[in-house]
Amino acid sequence: MTTHVYRVGLRTRFRGLTARDGVLLRGDAGWAEFSPFWDYDDAESLAWWRAAREAADVGWPAALRETIPVNVTVPAVDGPAARRIVEASGGCRTAKVKVAEPGQTESDEIERLEAVRDALGPGGRIRIDANGGWDTATAIARLRVLDRAAGGLEYVEQPCASVAELATVRRAVDVPVAADESIRRAQDPLAVVRAQAADIVVLKVAPLGGVRACLDLAEQVGLPVVVSSALETSVGLAAGIALAAALPELPFACGLATAQLLSDDVVAEPLLPVGGAIPVRRPEPDPALLAAHRGDADLTGRWLARTAAVRGLL
Ligand SMILES: [Mg+2]
Repeated sequence: MTTHVYRVGLRTRFRGLTARDGVLLRGDAGWAEFSPFWDYDDAESLAWWRAAREAADVGWPAALRETIPVNVTVPAVDGPAARRIVEASGGCRTAKVKVAEPGQTESDEIERLEAVRDALGPGGRIRIDANGGWDTATAIARLRVLDRAAGGLEYVEQPCASVAELATVRRAVDVPVAADESIRRAQDPLAVVRAQAADIVVLKVAPLGGVRACLDLAEQVGLPVVVSSALETSVGLAAGIALAAALPELPFACGLATAQLLSDDVVAEPLLPVGGAIPVRRPEPDPALLAAHRGDADLTGRWLARTAAVRGLL
Protein backbone atom coordinates (compact mmCIF):
# COMPACT_ATOMS: atom_id res chain seq x y z
CA MET A 1 0.00 0.00 0.00
CA THR A 2 1.24 3.50 -0.85
CA THR A 3 1.50 5.73 2.22
CA HIS A 4 2.46 9.37 2.53
CA VAL A 5 2.87 11.56 5.63
CA TYR A 6 1.63 15.12 5.16
CA ARG A 7 1.77 18.37 7.10
CA VAL A 8 -0.32 21.44 6.15
CA GLY A 9 -0.54 24.76 8.01
CA LEU A 10 -3.76 26.25 9.41
CA ARG A 11 -4.81 29.81 8.56
CA THR A 12 -5.97 30.47 12.13
CA ARG A 13 -5.04 28.66 15.33
CA PHE A 14 -7.77 26.03 15.79
CA ARG A 15 -8.25 23.47 18.56
CA GLY A 16 -4.87 24.72 19.82
CA LEU A 17 -3.21 23.68 16.54
CA THR A 18 -1.24 25.69 13.98
CA ALA A 19 -0.82 22.80 11.52
CA ARG A 20 -2.52 19.54 10.64
CA ASP A 21 -0.68 16.30 9.89
CA GLY A 22 -1.47 12.69 9.16
CA VAL A 23 -1.02 9.75 6.82
CA LEU A 24 -2.54 9.38 3.37
CA LEU A 25 -2.83 5.86 2.03
CA ARG A 26 -3.99 4.42 -1.24
CA GLY A 27 -5.80 1.12 -1.58
CA ASP A 28 -7.83 -0.57 -4.33
CA ALA A 29 -10.82 1.75 -3.77
CA GLY A 30 -8.87 5.01 -3.64
CA TRP A 31 -6.99 7.35 -1.32
CA ALA A 32 -7.74 7.58 2.39
CA GLU A 33 -6.61 9.70 5.32
CA PHE A 34 -5.57 8.51 8.80
CA SER A 35 -5.09 11.60 10.94
CA PRO A 36 -6.24 11.20 14.55
CA PHE A 37 -5.32 14.26 16.60
CA TRP A 38 -2.28 13.62 18.78
CA ASP A 39 -4.40 13.70 21.95
CA TYR A 40 -6.20 10.54 20.78
CA ASP A 41 -4.52 7.43 22.20
CA ASP A 42 -3.96 4.26 20.19
CA ALA A 43 -7.25 2.66 21.27
CA GLU A 44 -9.26 5.75 20.29
CA SER A 45 -7.33 5.98 17.02
CA LEU A 46 -8.48 2.52 16.00
CA ALA A 47 -11.80 3.94 14.77
CA TRP A 48 -9.86 6.41 12.59
CA TRP A 49 -7.90 3.48 11.15
CA ARG A 50 -11.10 1.53 10.37
CA ALA A 51 -12.52 4.60 8.61
CA ALA A 52 -9.33 4.94 6.56
CA ARG A 53 -9.38 1.26 5.58
CA GLU A 54 -13.02 1.52 4.51
CA ALA A 55 -12.09 4.43 2.24
CA ALA A 56 -8.98 2.74 0.86
CA ASP A 57 -10.29 -0.82 0.48
CA VAL A 58 -14.04 -0.75 -0.20
CA GLY A 59 -15.17 2.84 -0.79
CA TRP A 60 -18.53 4.23 0.25
CA PRO A 61 -22.26 3.62 -0.28
CA ALA A 62 -24.04 5.33 -3.16
CA ALA A 63 -24.77 9.06 -2.97
CA LEU A 64 -28.41 10.13 -2.68
CA ARG A 65 -27.68 13.81 -3.46
CA GLU A 66 -25.24 15.76 -5.61
CA THR A 67 -24.35 18.67 -3.35
CA ILE A 68 -23.96 19.12 0.41
CA PRO A 69 -24.95 22.46 2.00
CA VAL A 70 -22.21 23.48 4.43
CA ASN A 71 -21.49 26.01 7.15
CA VAL A 72 -18.52 28.32 7.35
CA THR A 73 -16.57 27.78 10.59
CA VAL A 74 -15.59 30.93 12.47
CA PRO A 75 -12.81 30.33 15.02
CA ALA A 76 -12.45 32.43 18.19
CA VAL A 77 -11.37 35.56 16.30
CA ASP A 78 -12.40 39.24 16.70
CA GLY A 79 -15.37 40.85 14.94
CA PRO A 80 -13.59 42.19 11.84
CA ALA A 81 -11.83 38.86 11.24
CA ALA A 82 -15.11 36.97 11.73
CA ARG A 83 -16.75 39.17 9.13
CA ARG A 84 -13.93 38.56 6.63
CA ILE A 85 -14.16 34.78 7.14
CA VAL A 86 -17.92 34.77 6.47
CA GLU A 87 -17.53 36.99 3.43
CA ALA A 88 -14.82 34.72 1.98
CA SER A 89 -16.77 31.52 2.66
CA GLY A 90 -17.96 30.67 -0.84
CA GLY A 91 -21.53 31.75 -0.26
CA CYS A 92 -22.23 29.84 2.97
CA ARG A 93 -25.60 30.84 4.47
CA THR A 94 -24.88 29.12 7.78
CA ALA A 95 -22.03 29.95 10.15
CA LYS A 96 -20.70 27.92 13.05
CA VAL A 97 -19.06 30.23 15.57
CA LYS A 98 -16.65 28.99 18.23
CA VAL A 99 -17.37 30.18 21.78
CA ALA A 100 -16.13 29.33 25.30
CA GLU A 101 -12.54 29.88 24.21
CA PRO A 102 -10.22 29.97 27.24
CA GLY A 103 -9.09 33.53 28.00
CA GLN A 104 -12.01 35.17 26.18
CA THR A 105 -15.02 36.98 27.66
CA GLU A 106 -18.72 37.19 26.96
CA SER A 107 -18.20 40.51 25.19
CA ASP A 108 -15.70 38.88 22.80
CA GLU A 109 -18.40 36.37 21.90
CA ILE A 110 -21.08 39.05 21.50
CA GLU A 111 -18.80 41.07 19.20
CA ARG A 112 -18.04 37.97 17.10
CA LEU A 113 -21.71 36.96 16.81
CA GLU A 114 -22.88 40.47 15.92
CA ALA A 115 -20.25 40.64 13.18
CA VAL A 116 -21.29 37.25 11.81
CA ARG A 117 -24.97 38.24 11.80
CA ASP A 118 -24.09 41.48 10.04
CA ALA A 119 -22.11 39.60 7.39
CA LEU A 120 -24.75 36.89 6.85
CA GLY A 121 -27.79 39.15 6.87
CA PRO A 122 -31.15 38.31 8.48
CA GLY A 123 -31.72 35.15 6.41
CA GLY A 124 -28.51 33.41 7.45
CA ARG A 125 -28.29 30.80 10.19
CA ILE A 126 -25.87 30.93 13.13
CA ARG A 127 -24.93 28.01 15.36
CA ILE A 128 -22.33 28.08 18.12
CA ASP A 129 -19.91 25.43 19.41
CA ALA A 130 -18.67 25.56 23.01
CA ASN A 131 -16.72 22.27 22.81
CA GLY A 132 -17.98 21.36 26.29
CA GLY A 133 -16.41 24.48 27.80
CA TRP A 134 -19.24 25.72 30.05
CA ASP A 135 -20.76 24.52 33.29
CA THR A 136 -24.57 24.35 33.25
CA ALA A 137 -25.14 27.71 34.98
CA THR A 138 -22.80 29.52 32.59
CA ALA A 139 -24.35 27.76 29.59
CA ILE A 140 -27.91 28.67 30.56
CA ALA A 141 -27.08 32.32 31.28
CA ARG A 142 -24.74 32.73 28.30
CA LEU A 143 -27.14 31.15 25.80
CA ARG A 144 -29.80 33.76 26.55
CA VAL A 145 -27.29 36.54 25.91
CA LEU A 146 -25.72 35.00 22.80
CA ASP A 147 -29.10 34.04 21.30
CA ARG A 148 -29.97 37.74 21.41
CA ALA A 149 -26.57 38.88 20.09
CA ALA A 150 -26.82 36.47 17.16
CA GLY A 151 -30.38 37.47 16.31
CA GLY A 152 -31.41 33.84 16.99
CA LEU A 153 -29.28 30.72 17.26
CA GLU A 154 -29.96 27.65 15.12
CA TYR A 155 -28.47 25.44 17.86
CA VAL A 156 -25.64 25.18 20.39
CA GLU A 157 -23.14 22.38 19.96
CA GLN A 158 -21.83 20.63 23.11
CA PRO A 159 -22.42 23.50 25.61
CA CYS A 160 -21.12 21.32 28.49
CA ALA A 161 -18.92 18.26 28.73
CA SER A 162 -21.18 15.54 30.19
CA VAL A 163 -24.41 13.98 28.98
CA ALA A 164 -26.15 14.83 32.27
CA GLU A 165 -25.16 18.50 31.90
CA LEU A 166 -26.39 18.59 28.29
CA ALA A 167 -29.75 17.25 29.47
CA THR A 168 -29.98 19.95 32.17
CA VAL A 169 -29.17 22.74 29.71
CA ARG A 170 -31.57 21.37 27.12
CA ARG A 171 -34.43 21.43 29.64
CA ALA A 172 -33.63 25.03 30.64
CA VAL A 173 -33.20 26.82 27.30
CA ASP A 174 -35.12 27.17 24.05
CA VAL A 175 -32.01 26.92 21.86
CA PRO A 176 -31.74 23.34 20.47
CA VAL A 177 -28.75 21.33 21.74
CA ALA A 178 -26.43 19.33 19.50
CA ALA A 179 -24.13 16.61 20.88
CA ASP A 180 -20.65 16.26 19.38
CA GLU A 181 -17.95 15.13 21.83
CA SER A 182 -20.66 13.19 23.75
CA ILE A 183 -21.07 11.06 20.61
CA ARG A 184 -17.62 10.75 19.12
CA ARG A 185 -15.52 10.32 22.26
CA ALA A 186 -18.10 8.36 24.26
CA GLN A 187 -18.01 4.70 25.20
CA ASP A 188 -21.76 4.66 24.62
CA PRO A 189 -22.96 7.17 21.99
CA LEU A 190 -26.61 6.23 22.65
CA ALA A 191 -26.46 7.53 26.23
CA VAL A 192 -27.28 10.97 24.79
CA VAL A 193 -30.51 9.62 23.36
CA ARG A 194 -31.57 7.78 26.53
CA ALA A 195 -30.96 10.93 28.62
CA GLN A 196 -32.87 13.10 26.10
CA ALA A 197 -29.78 15.29 26.17
CA ALA A 198 -29.77 16.45 22.53
CA ASP A 199 -32.01 17.55 19.66
CA ILE A 200 -29.34 16.95 17.02
CA VAL A 201 -26.23 14.77 16.77
CA VAL A 202 -22.95 15.66 15.10
CA LEU A 203 -21.31 12.69 13.37
CA LYS A 204 -17.68 12.61 12.24
CA VAL A 205 -16.64 9.74 10.03
CA ALA A 206 -13.08 9.14 11.24
CA PRO A 207 -13.57 9.07 15.04
CA LEU A 208 -16.72 6.96 14.59
CA GLY A 209 -15.09 4.30 12.43
CA GLY A 210 -16.28 4.99 8.88
CA VAL A 211 -19.20 5.97 6.69
CA ARG A 212 -21.12 2.71 7.21
CA ALA A 213 -20.62 2.83 10.98
CA CYS A 214 -22.02 6.38 10.98
CA LEU A 215 -25.03 5.39 8.86
CA ASP A 216 -25.78 2.60 11.35
CA LEU A 217 -25.36 4.96 14.31
CA ALA A 218 -27.61 7.58 12.69
CA GLU A 219 -30.32 4.98 12.33
CA GLN A 220 -30.01 3.91 15.98
CA VAL A 221 -29.95 7.49 17.27
CA GLY A 222 -33.03 8.56 15.31
CA LEU A 223 -32.22 12.30 15.59
CA PRO A 224 -31.28 14.78 12.84
CA VAL A 225 -27.61 14.46 11.88
CA VAL A 226 -25.05 17.13 11.07
CA VAL A 227 -21.94 15.65 9.44
CA SER A 228 -18.74 17.43 10.43
CA SER A 229 -15.09 17.00 9.60
CA ALA A 230 -12.10 16.34 11.81
CA LEU A 231 -10.16 19.10 10.08
CA GLU A 232 -8.79 16.74 7.42
CA THR A 233 -7.35 17.50 4.01
CA SER A 234 -9.77 17.11 1.10
CA VAL A 235 -8.83 13.40 0.97
CA GLY A 236 -10.31 12.85 4.43
CA LEU A 237 -13.14 15.35 3.89
CA ALA A 238 -14.38 13.24 0.96
CA ALA A 239 -15.49 10.58 3.47
CA GLY A 240 -17.62 13.15 5.31
CA ILE A 241 -19.08 14.27 1.99
CA ALA A 242 -19.86 10.60 1.20
CA LEU A 243 -21.68 10.19 4.54
CA ALA A 244 -23.68 13.39 4.07
CA ALA A 245 -24.54 12.24 0.54
CA ALA A 246 -25.73 8.81 1.74
CA LEU A 247 -27.88 9.84 4.73
CA PRO A 248 -31.63 9.42 4.06
CA GLU A 249 -32.28 12.95 5.37
CA LEU A 250 -30.03 15.97 5.71
CA PRO A 251 -32.00 18.82 7.31
CA PHE A 252 -29.02 21.01 8.36
CA ALA A 253 -25.92 22.42 6.70
CA CYS A 254 -22.88 20.25 7.42
CA GLY A 255 -19.56 21.21 8.99
CA LEU A 256 -17.51 20.08 6.01
CA ALA A 257 -16.20 23.40 4.67
CA THR A 258 -13.08 23.10 6.79
CA ALA A 259 -10.64 22.97 3.89
CA GLN A 260 -11.07 26.75 4.21
CA LEU A 261 -9.19 26.57 7.51
CA LEU A 262 -6.10 25.01 5.89
CA SER A 263 -3.48 27.21 4.26
CA ASP A 264 -3.12 24.64 1.46
CA ASP A 265 -4.33 21.15 0.54
CA VAL A 266 -3.00 17.96 -1.06
CA VAL A 267 -5.48 17.98 -3.96
CA ALA A 268 -5.45 20.46 -6.83
CA GLU A 269 -9.16 21.27 -6.44
CA PRO A 270 -10.01 21.17 -2.72
CA LEU A 271 -13.52 20.33 -1.49
CA LEU A 272 -14.64 23.94 -1.06
CA PRO A 273 -18.18 25.33 -1.20
CA VAL A 274 -19.67 27.02 -4.24
CA GLY A 275 -22.88 28.90 -3.52
CA GLY A 276 -22.81 27.51 0.04
CA ALA A 277 -22.64 23.84 -0.99
CA ILE A 278 -19.88 21.33 -1.79
CA PRO A 279 -20.41 19.17 -4.90
CA VAL A 280 -20.22 15.43 -4.07
CA ARG A 281 -16.94 14.07 -5.46
CA ARG A 282 -13.75 12.32 -4.40
CA PRO A 283 -10.62 14.26 -5.36
CA GLU A 284 -7.24 12.56 -5.80
CA PRO A 285 -4.02 13.93 -4.32
CA ASP A 286 -1.82 15.93 -6.65
CA PRO A 287 1.78 14.58 -6.80
CA ALA A 288 3.33 18.07 -6.70
CA LEU A 289 1.23 19.04 -3.66
CA LEU A 290 2.04 15.76 -1.92
CA ALA A 291 5.72 16.54 -2.42
CA ALA A 292 5.30 20.15 -1.27
CA HIS A 293 3.58 19.08 1.98
CA ARG A 294 5.58 15.95 2.76
CA GLY A 295 6.24 15.54 6.48
CA ASP A 296 9.88 15.64 7.56
CA ALA A 297 11.75 12.54 8.71
CA ASP A 298 10.84 13.03 12.38
CA LEU A 299 7.12 13.45 11.66
CA THR A 300 7.15 10.52 9.24
CA GLY A 301 8.78 8.32 11.87
CA ARG A 302 6.18 9.31 14.47
CA TRP A 303 3.28 8.53 12.11
CA LEU A 304 4.71 5.19 11.02
CA ALA A 305 5.15 4.21 14.68
CA ARG A 306 1.65 5.35 15.51
CA THR A 307 0.13 3.50 12.58
CA ALA A 308 1.97 0.30 13.56
CA ALA A 309 0.77 0.63 17.17
CA VAL A 310 -2.85 1.09 16.13
CA ARG A 311 -2.73 -1.78 13.63
CA GLY A 312 -1.26 -3.91 16.41
CA LEU A 313 -4.56 -3.54 18.28
CA LEU A 314 -6.55 -5.19 15.47
MG1 LIG B 1 -17.93 20.45 17.86
